[in-house]
Amino acid sequence: MLRKAILAAAESPRLQRGVRRHGMRLGASRFVAGETLDQAVVVLRSLNERGLKVNTTLLGEGVSDEAETRAVVNAYKVILDRIEAEQLRVNVALKLTHLGLAFDEQLARANIGELVSHAGRLGNFVRLDMEESSFVDATLRVFRALRADGHENVGTVLQSYLYRSPADLESLLGLEPNLRFVKGAYLESPDVAYPEKKDVDAAYARLIERSLTAGGFTAVATHDEALIAHAISYAEGNDIPRSRLQFQMLYGVRGKLQLGLVQQGYDVLVATPYGPDWYRYLMRRLAERPANVLFIARNLVRR
Ligand SMILES: Cc1cc2nc3c(=O)[nH]c(=O)nc-3n(C[C@H](O)[C@H](O)[C@H](O)COP(=O)(O)OP(=O)(O)OC[C@H]3O[C@@H](n4cnc5c(N)ncnc54)[C@H](O)[C@@H]3O)c2cc1C
Repeated sequence: MLRKAILAAAESPRLQRGVRRHGMRLGASRFVAGETLDQAVVVLRSLNERGLKVNTTLLGEGVSDEAETRAVVNAYKVILDRIEAEQLRVNVALKLTHLGLAFDEQLARANIGELVSHAGRLGNFVRLDMEESSFVDATLRVFRALRADGHENVGTVLQSYLYRSPADLESLLGLEPNLRFVKGAYLESPDVAYPEKKDVDAAYARLIERSLTAGGFTAVATHDEALIAHAISYAEGNDIPRSRLQFQMLYGVRGKLQLGLVQQGYDVLVATPYGPDWYRYLMRRLAERPANVLFIARNLVRR
């Protein structure tokens, strides 16, 4: 209930104005690695130094014309070049709506093709995040088109709250895909997504098992310790090589768990976004764990 209330309240223009003005100082910086690339690079390097891989994202979702999407493409090229110059173990993850998917799928496809080619020349990798259910078909179409064009350095995401995800996984397996599995962060109707957490969790375990058994690369992106333990025991019990399994968590969430897995010899990647347009990202993080609202509120009182 609270999750839904926070996601709905996030749309209020008044709340947006207030949070955008003060949020970074009030605690958004726990989840966001700064507003500029220079600030982010410091954080990315420090995560690498602790044995963690990273993916970064220039935050932003709403673009309204081609010129804006071109600016995003150019910004990501700068990010990829900077990662190379700084010799960081960092790839990028992005939302296709940031490249125009909401108004022109062909444009988004051309933009992402350019970025994946650029990343490929640098030996880097691009992940297509998964957004609201209305974008799943188009995102998977673009992913398949990139793979059909011969790009191996691209992956995408499946959300266990969607009823359709097991079928989507089956349809992708022939590609030996690089897939990140998440529970799902958006407000979805019970027509398309499990409303109950226990069903989302059970679906998550089934997707992981199927992906690990079938081949390809499985990124287990959750902070849920029971599901992480399940993935480890399932992989070990079925002789799945560790090179095909990665754990992914969010910057600012469960740091000790991240480092504990690194110490056990697992590959761990921390999703670490940055940029001035952090409002919606922060709201999704607050909705996932309403205690995070208290964290922000405490900072407000302390000021
Ligand atoms: C690397 C990564 C990439 C993601 N990419 C996408 C994507 O492309 N599309 C998409 O829809 N969703 C994405 N998500 C978000 C995901 O869908 C979930 O909303 C989010 O991960 C919370 O669910 P959980 O799996 O951690 O499990 P939960 O059952 O929600 O949480 C398990 C435990 O983790 C802790 N926890 C979880 N979230 C937080 C938080 N925000 N702050 C503090 N503690 C927390 C809590 O203690 C909780 O008890 C991504 C998540 C990760 C980790």
